[in-house]
Amino acid sequence: MDNQALTKLVQNISQEKFQRPFKHQAIFNSRLRTTGGRYHLADHHIDINPKILTYYGQAELIGVIIHELCHYHLHLTGQPYQHQSQAFRRLLAQTGGSRYAPPLPKTNHQQKVEVYQCRQCQRKYFRQRKLNLDRYACGRCGGKLTHIATYRQSKNKVS
Ligand SMILES: [Zn+2]
Ligand SMILES: [Zn+2]
Repeated sequence: MDNQALTKLVQNISQEKFQRPFKHQAIFNSRLRTTGGRYHLADHHIDINPKILTYYGQAELIGVIIHELCHYHLHLTGQPYQHQSQAFRRLLAQTGGSRYAPPLPKTNHQQKVEVYQCRQCQRKYFRQRKLNLDRYACGRCGGKLTHIATYRQSKNKVS
């Protein structure tokens, strides 16, 4: 997915969830490290961390986009747009945006995360500890899990 396709996706989500147009740019910004996305007050563009798509897929990407669109539309309509504001919380709940971005792999950090994936439905699981794979199964479909990676990372906020 390139920036043009990303912007198109943001436009579609904006119409569908907010019934308002998104008239600015959405950009994959790989310099974002600990955040999933960022709305820029000055020029109204939205940065999205490409790792969200790489590691979690489309559903998680949409959650992050909705979160940023909550900032966007509240700001542009002159309402309180900060996380703490009631307007933001209400709109986020109505539209189903992510409150927090999922953990993203980040090098040079202490915390380790073990990544497992269901062999049947491909759902990913992130755990601090190694799992005994004879005892754990996928919470969604009951399939067997496979260990696919070990990440070092920190907690991420959506901002
Ligand atoms: Zn599964
Ligand atoms: Zn935010």
